[in-house]
Amino acid sequence: MAENIPDADVTADASHRLDQLHVAVVGAGRIGAELIRNLGDLGVRRVDVYESDPAAADPLRGRCTVFDGDFWDELTLSRLQTYDFAICTVHDRAARVRLNQKCLVANVNVLQAWTEGPLAIVGAYPFRMLRDCACFECDATSDATPMPLATLKLSVAATDAGIPTASIAGGLAAALLARVAAGAHHAVARRAMLDATLGQGTSVVLTRDPGCVRCRSLERPVPIVQTRNRWVPSNSVTATCPEALDQDVRLSDEIEGFPGGSCRVGALVEHFHGGPIPAKFALAEVGGRTICLDFEEIRPESPGAAPTRTTAQRSASN
Ligand SMILES: [Zn+2]
Repeated sequence: MAENIPDADVTADASHRLDQLHVAVVGAGRIGAELIRNLGDLGVRRVDVYESDPAAADPLRGRCTVFDGDFWDELTLSRLQTYDFAICTVHDRAARVRLNQKCLVANVNVLQAWTEGPLAIVGAYPFRMLRDCACFECDATSDATPMPLATLKLSVAATDAGIPTASIAGGLAAALLARVAAGAHHAVARRAMLDATLGQGTSVVLTRDPGCVRCRSLERPVPIVQTRNRWVPSNSVTATCPEALDQDVRLSDEIEGFPGGSCRVGALVEHFHGGPIPAKFALAEVGGRTICLDFEEIRPESPGAAPTRTTAQRSASN
């Protein structure tokens, strides 16, 4: 399928829009650093960085707001919802899956940037802009079409370490973000790929996979209910609504003994004796609709529960 990407550059209107964006960048390695530099060039001023390695994070302090520690802990659902875009630049597929998972629930546009050998790859999934958007874990079934690179504002820093695939991935991510924000890509889910050795690019429009393990039954925006991470049904609940214990939930985190994160509420109550359970959130079907139980904002009250760690403690433990 040939597609028309308008030749028009990112316009003054779009620049105005870029200036208003609030962007979360996960990872400040080579891809992340290049992305942040490109975002600055494009006029994106509000960039927050989530990076657990101080050596990578320190050079960015002052220019960006830096959150130390693991993004899975720091970038809570509530915080994630304050961003226009979140971008994962971590070289770990599990991290990309995790950000995909949270952005689906938070209904936030997400980009994923990574490299595979000489390939710089960026996926854009505008969840907030497109109701039936494919997610990172949906299968890509569409054919790739050549991508006219001249229409992308791609700025890549020179490097003396050979082919700058990571820099290209960072630049490509910024270019796609600008296009999605400007509406120039008609807000479709897209995976763009550039071969750094051949200089060839391809672009695939991604369609939602009805059998996708992650987004299959999700109707966005997912209602989010903030609740305590405590699994003790009161006597009145067990007396009046015993079927509540039969409710199935899908946990955000893989927990030993609960393959795929799926389980019955009754099993969680038994296993964790009242909680908390090591998960950020759980998805449950209520009245035919998936809702999210968010455990991240309301802390356990009991003195025996793990205290909230400080940023300094988190850094030390990472
Ligand atoms: Zn999906």
